[in-house]
Amino acid sequence: MREVHHFIGGKAVTGKSGRFGDIYNPNTGEVQARVALATQAELAGAVEAAKAALPGWAGTNPQRRARVMFEFKRLVEANMNELAHLLSSEHGKVIADSKGDIQRGLDVVEFACGVPHLLKGEYTEGAGPGIDVFSMRQALGVCAGITPFNFPAMIPCWMSAVAVACGNTFILKPSEKDPSVPMRLAELMLEAGAPAGVLNVVNGDKVAVDAILSHPDIKAVSFVGSSDIAQYVYATGTAHGKRVQAMGGAKNHGIIMPDANMEQAVKDIVGAAYGSAGERCMALPVAVPVGKKTADEFVERMTAEAQKLKIGISTDNDAHYGPVVSAQHKAKIESYIQMGVDEGAKLVLDGRGHSLQGHEKGFFIGPSLFDHVKPGMKSYHEEIFGPVLQVIRAETLEEAAALPSNHQYGNGCAIFTSNGRAAREFAAQVNVGMVGINVPIPVPVAYHTFGGWKRSAFGDTNQHGPEGIKFWTKIKTVTQRWPEGDVGDQAFVIPTMG
Ligand code: NAD
Repeated sequence: MREVHHFIGGKAVTGKSGRFGDIYNPNTGEVQARVALATQAELAGAVEAAKAALPGWAGTNPQRRARVMFEFKRLVEANMNELAHLLSSEHGKVIADSKGDIQRGLDVVEFACGVPHLLKGEYTEGAGPGIDVFSMRQALGVCAGITPFNFPAMIPCWMSAVAVACGNTFILKPSEKDPSVPMRLAELMLEAGAPAGVLNVVNGDKVAVDAILSHPDIKAVSFVGSSDIAQYVYATGTAHGKRVQAMGGAKNHGIIMPDANMEQAVKDIVGAAYGSAGERCMALPVAVPVGKKTADEFVERMTAEAQKLKIGISTDNDAHYGPVVSAQHKAKIESYIQMGVDEGAKLVLDGRGHSLQGHEKGFFIGPSLFDHVKPGMKSYHEEIFGPVLQVIRAETLEEAAALPSNHQYGNGCAIFTSNGRAAREFAAQVNVGMVGINVPIPVPVAYHTFGGWKRSAFGDTNQHGPEGIKFWTKIKTVTQRWPEGDVGDQAFVIPTMG
């Protein structure tokens, strides 16, 4: 059976722990490979490799580091097909979604190509007599990223591309469910010209995560995953004196106003709710139509559209979405569907028991649709992370907008309307980090910044964009003067008093 180990110091390193995790093929339900789970000592070995590479890499001028990023981008593009198939085979998302996953990662790599400009500091000439002040952004040192299963190309790139371009060396701990694409990305980074030890991959579970969080030489940790773990990572990492950003779960709402283009809204929401089997942190699993007429029409149209969805294996080009990632996750989603029924919501479409001919053991779930969901329900309060759309009916925009604002999660939300003033007011007031106006999945482009609010993110800085540069660097401010000859009465005065 294929085995996935570690990539440390520019080469494949065989794991010694004797502990392994199973990598499934979600299409067939079979174990297709196993992944080595690192020990604390193995993680420490990767830190040593990253430390050894640090002075050379941090001292490489930013333009040369940018050239490595350009080449990395070219290599990933050249290997797009192979990477997309590998990604789909472990995750279960369809090939088009896998290519999207890789492309969104490349968008951040492209952003990181601009690092010479992005690292430029500020300069004040003559802040006092003969005194200039300037600032520079310097690399932090050895940094780490811990990533979830659902975007095994994009999220490793969010973190590693920006961190490495800024001059840090990096240890990536990918999800143990689909670690093969992150491993390939590290190999391609080496091939692109990043010296050995600049980007390392250590596979593992909680043992590896805890080793990262407590290692004294790791300066910053970026995490993306579920909220309880995000909170744990944030609390533990900061207690060990590290800079930490930790993105968590989500429950994004889409509000449909009576003046929305209903056809467009339904088309957008069917993709946003069910695409990638709902396993996107920016999926729209809650629809909030405003007014009874809007709600009745929305539910009727959505039922018809959802029934047209084709569920297939991840290499089926006609399939809208593939299997979910694991049997465990499938069971969890199905238990939430039962919970919704028990709580009294109306199950309009039931995706449970979906079987695909020839792939009966695959982790497939059909689309589910609930109407008359109520804010107090646990199935609404919690993240399901599957192909389940919950409809909550509201009477007014105010009532609708209070739902995402009061929810425990605050990653993204959207409003569908033709009223610019209402949309503007909603975007300004809603207590959520990313807002779409007639845009169902408002993932910001790479040169803006990604991050939610409330239990969707712990820490102050977002991923990529200017906030990413800020997270992966520390600022130093220099005040200089070059007095001539004998300093004499040129005693230093604070610039503001000069
Ligand atoms: P997860 O929390 O199970 O795993 C994320 C990472 O944490 C993995 O690398 C895993 O190995 C590690 N981990 C798991 N259990 C741990 C433990 N007890 N202690 C320490 N580390 C542990 O998340 P997942 O199931 O891989 O991913 C799905 C979740 O990620 C969803 O909640 C989704 O909303 C969230 N997500 C959030 C964003 C965002 O930007 N906010 C983006 C993508 C995914």
